Amino acid sequence: MRALCWDGGDGLVVRQVPDPELRNAHDVIVRVRRSAACGAELPMLTGGQPAPGVGEALGHEFLGDVVEVGPEVSRHRVGDRVVVCSTVSCGRCWYCRRGLYSCCDNGSSAEAMVAEPPWGAPAAGCYGHPRSAGGFAGSHAEYVRVPYADVGAFGVPEGVSDDRAVFASEAAPTGWLGADLGGVGPGDVVAVWGAGAVGQLTALAALMRGAERVIVVDRYDDRLRMVERAVGVETLHLGRTDVAAELRERSGGRGPDVCVEAAGEGGPRARSFAARLGGRPAGDAPAVREAVHACRKGGTVAVLGAASGFVDAFPLGAVLHKGLTVRGSRQNGQRYVPRLLELMARDEVRTEHLATHRLPLEQGPLGYDLFRTRADGCVRVVFAPQEAAG
Ligand SMILES: [Zn+2]
Ligand SMILES: [Zn+2]
Repeated sequence: MRALCWDGGDGLVVRQVPDPELRNAHDVIVRVRRSAACGAELPMLTGGQPAPGVGEALGHEFLGDVVEVGPEVSRHRVGDRVVVCSTVSCGRCWYCRRGLYSCCDNGSSAEAMVAEPPWGAPAAGCYGHPRSAGGFAGSHAEYVRVPYADVGAFGVPEGVSDDRAVFASEAAPTGWLGADLGGVGPGDVVAVWGAGAVGQLTALAALMRGAERVIVVDRYDDRLRMVERAVGVETLHLGRTDVAAELRERSGGRGPDVCVEAAGEGGPRARSFAARLGGRPAGDAPAVREAVHACRKGGTVAVLGAASGFVDAFPLGAVLHKGLTVRGSRQNGQRYVPRLLELMARDEVRTEHLATHRLPLEQGPLGYDLFRTRADGCVRVVFAPQEAAG
């Protein structure tokens, strides 16, 4: 089959790779209809985070049709259209039983020990990531093996389009998680850093939990206009505004009750200045820093995107003196996807506007160039491996 693979450095190539096979009784094989590029992959391509091996497929947010089913799978049949949670979790371990799917003990391989110095402990796996995250082949491919399919794959209701449902794989549940971590409730003022897919969906989740004001902060005008129009929230332009002063102004002089980082890492430029720790480049997380400074005393800061092992200049003193709660998590989509699919079916969650560019797999390298440079108003590139190159 064809797959979009990492070629070393920041290079990508579409190449022939072996078809996936059922390896475990709980697996299914999915024929991919949509697979979304994700900002979490960009630090991999610039050496900021461990990448999959050279020649291995990228991609972890996807939806497709079940074409093969392992003997112990009970919830899926051949022909079902399913969206698959990007994190791989067993559903049975101590953590999964408590809903902490992203902390799963069985999602990543023994090689996950490699992940411990920067990330603290092995945790759930992820498609299209390095071997330390389980070594599961990526979804920018014609077919994908889905382990623990009864736990991580969800039937998509009829009438929900592929371009909508693909965002139930990761971006939407991550947004719901952000609002959850922040404990957003009625009357809250919520600020969200990042107007990409996760930021937009965090803003929507906050609104749906009753937030009184939601303010999205970003440096790209087209994204800010998109989130104003599509979600109906306020925005602030980073760089043209004194963000902290403006946020205080809009929150009774105190600062937002909840600040959510959904911006990801600082760019390659920030990293090149950053110190190296343990042989790995330290990231920069300017949005987390700003969120800590902007948040009102006693408020909550939720970290969704800044995944580097170490960051410099974290304002720990402000956390203590302001009595802040700081929380972070990778997505626990298994908790949110069924509800999100219902909301999508009822048109209460609409996400298809985020798929600004739909391309055949063969145009993968071009797609990542668009995504990386944010050219042409690109928010998310979504690959459609079943559609032929035009
Ligand atoms: Zn992602
Ligand atoms: Zn588990």
